[in-house]
Amino acid sequence: SRYYTIHEHPQGLPSRELFALEQRELGALAEGEVRVRNVWLSVDPYMRGRMDGVTTYIDPFVLGEPLEGGAVGEVMESRDARFQIGDKVRHMAGWRDIAQLPAEQVEPLPNFDVPEQAYLGVLGMPGTTAWVGLNVIAGMQKGDNVLVSAAGGAVGSLAVQLARANGGTVVGIAGDPKKLAWLESKGVKAVSYKDKSAAELSKALKEACPEGFDVYYENVGGDCLEAALNNLRVGARIAVCGMIARYNDDAPAAGPGNLAMILIRRARMQGFIVFDHWEHHTDFVNAFGPRVASGEIDYQETVKEGLESLPDAFLGLFSGSNQGKMLVKL
Ligand code: NDP
Repeated sequence: SRYYTIHEHPQGLPSRELFALEQRELGALAEGEVRVRNVWLSVDPYMRGRMDGVTTYIDPFVLGEPLEGGAVGEVMESRDARFQIGDKVRHMAGWRDIAQLPAEQVEPLPNFDVPEQAYLGVLGMPGTTAWVGLNVIAGMQKGDNVLVSAAGGAVGSLAVQLARANGGTVVGIAGDPKKLAWLESKGVKAVSYKDKSAAELSKALKEACPEGFDVYYENVGGDCLEAALNNLRVGARIAVCGMIARYNDDAPAAGPGNLAMILIRRARMQGFIVFDHWEHHTDFVNAFGPRVASGEIDYQETVKEGLESLPDAFLGLFSGSNQGKMLVKL
């Protein structure tokens, strides 16, 4: 098996050289194990946190051991009655070409009429996160004005569509012009954060939605949070899904200077981790599988080819080089 590992904890934005591509022999398959040929590998922003060597809500990666992450592949060999050769499956032993793991850590793919990699994106962890954040955490109500940051990414691009279907004004913050154009095509008011101070971003949000926001779906932190805080309506809810602008900081950053807006607007700001709400995943996939298959829900992918492209695909998340879900195809 060829796999990626890291041998030290990165400071700041990781360099390409951090990621070592190594090889090891897999032992004979034990009773209850399956061997999977990975076809699609997911790279996600949360993986950066796992490189720091400290436990947050998830264990850190172990130096010298294969990195982990979502993957979709095909069973090559099975010593478990639940899986046959050729079955399409999803599991967490990504960052490698061949995975060998206990069958209970592997799940069969549902069979909606969608490409199999959709189960790593719009019908997988990021899609479920968008649904949970908006509905369970932010308690979105019909007609709410909704603001989403990193709105052209895997989570954000579903969050804006869900908000649009039920909301008032929906505004998406993104950097890349292609993401801004896609947002506009979905009836979302697109605002670029590039080359703007927090004050300028705040002004642009006010122009896009003078009434202010009932819900802020937070994916970025930093200036986006500061600008959003200035544009809250009374009783707003902030679902703190992620703060990608901070993941590569090597020193504590200054917070938004206007956190008191939470008080003034009587807003509720709540962090969440999708895995605490995973009981919604099956209902989510059953409800949205047909809507993704019919094209009613749009989703986008940025696909890099080959195991060698995996570190660049991961690092691209921090420079915005992905539109929609970032994936690697083997
Ligand atoms: P995305 O597909 O959105 O990729 C990241 C995007 O973030 C980039 O494409 C880039 O787009 C934008 N970005 C990167 N750095 C910055 C920055 N400094 N300022 C502003 N925008 C930036 O990733 P995901 O959809 O997978 O994840 C989105 C967020 O959701 C992340 O914060 C992630 O950690 C979080 N998350 C949380 C989960 C939970 O359980 N709480 C589960 C899954 C994800 P652009 O072109 O706009 O710059």
